[in-house]
Amino acid sequence: MHEPETVADAVSLLEQHGAEAALYAGGTELLLAMKEGLLRYGHLVNLKTVPGLDRLEYHQSAHELHIGPAVTHRALELSPEVAAQFPLIAKAEASVANVRVRNVGTLCGNLCFAEPHSDPAAFLLLYDARAEAQGSSGSRTIPLDQLVLGPYETCLEEGEMLTSVSVPQFGPEMKAAYQKFGYHQRPTLGLGVAVRLENGSVAEARIAVGSVGPKPVRVPEAEELLGGKDVGDLLGTASQTGPSVLDVAGRMAAEAAQPMDDLHGAADYKEHLVRVFLERVFAEAVGAAPAAQPSAA
Ligand SMILES: Cc1cc2nc3c(=O)[nH]c(=O)nc-3n(C[C@H](O)[C@H](O)[C@H](O)COP(=O)(O)OP(=O)(O)OC[C@H]3O[C@@H](n4cnc5c(N)ncnc54)[C@H](O)[C@@H]3O)c2cc1C
Repeated sequence: MHEPETVADAVSLLEQHGAEAALYAGGTELLLAMKEGLLRYGHLVNLKTVPGLDRLEYHQSAHELHIGPAVTHRALELSPEVAAQFPLIAKAEASVANVRVRNVGTLCGNLCFAEPHSDPAAFLLLYDARAEAQGSSGSRTIPLDQLVLGPYETCLEEGEMLTSVSVPQFGPEMKAAYQKFGYHQRPTLGLGVAVRLENGSVAEARIAVGSVGPKPVRVPEAEELLGGKDVGDLLGTASQTGPSVLDVAGRMAAEAAQPMDDLHGAADYKEHLVRVFLERVFAEAVGAAPAAQPSAA
């Protein structure tokens, strides 16, 4: 195990050892995969020995949260500033895994491992978050919707390290909710809705769906469909003549998420979940349904 003292040292160790090296944050995914023989590395580079990488800061002037690569789920869950300024993140983080995993597992490790059944990559899409990555040839900014390419695959190049995630705050009028569902340790579905209302109609909507398909997605076509619609009409029961607007939006979201058959269920079951949860989460976001409680230990 290497114990670098700067990000530059960590990156140079990654470059030096190439495919033989991996960054080690909380180790909750890495060690499990290595124990099972799925991954093999001769060199682990412990990023927690670099001072300051556990920095979790709210920059009030820019209205942004900065999450260092050693910031754990637990730190996000318990931070009073995150609870005050990013309540959706605090609540969603409290539902990740169990307290033992949250105590050591990091948000950046979660994003970099890109296990499809994960929460942060989905709820961070609602915020248009972005990641900073550093490699031997310099640093770059990656919009979060471009970070995850598919199951266990990101756009990070060999030797690149995620050095922070920046999350712009919602405007004061934005209301949002995120709910997850599943019977296994990891989520079968995660779905978030953020919505800004003007005179009872949807002025802006954001919809993110995760866990059901190969990677989390935003659903611009469903967001546009909800735009300009009266909330009372949206939440009214479906007309006799056809599906409701929210149901159509749910179908669009399900299609965009590309549900996959796996141990969590069949693709058509997940498609159904997306439609049901889009309505539920929209209702919670606009305050027409009670907030769902986090379900993790
Ligand atoms: C029992 C269990 C239940 C879980 N339930 C949930 C759940 O409900 N929801 C959910 O979202 N997740 C869940 N998880 C996943 C959990 O959130 C992740 O295991 C954790 O966040 C990974 O972070 P880590 O710091 O341990 O990463 P590590 O295991 O240290 O690293 C993971 C991977 O990312 C790479 N890496 C780490 N940091 C960086 C970096 N800064 N730059 C580049 N690469 C990096 C590593 O090299 C490795 O390949 C669960 C995990 C377990 C074990």
